[in-house]
Amino acid sequence: MTSNQRSGTEEVVDMELHCVKCQARLYVPLSQASAVLDSLERTSAAIPICVCGQAQLIRVKRKPRHD
Ligand SMILES: [Zn+2]
Repeated sequence: MTSNQRSGTEEVVDMELHCVKCQARLYVPLSQASAVLDSLERTSAAIPICVCGQAQLIRVKRKPRHD
């Protein structure tokens, strides 16, 4: 008999944002961070979910190109 217990040791990525609903600092589990970052890369936006269940829209400005 085995049981996996998550004891809060999972690594997370600090999104440097606060939830619009509960004002909690947004952290994305590493297991989801790659998907979030990939979305940011592709679309300049991502929608991580806060612990309270509120989806957050993140938008980033692309770095200006050298023209
Ligand atoms: Zn929240």
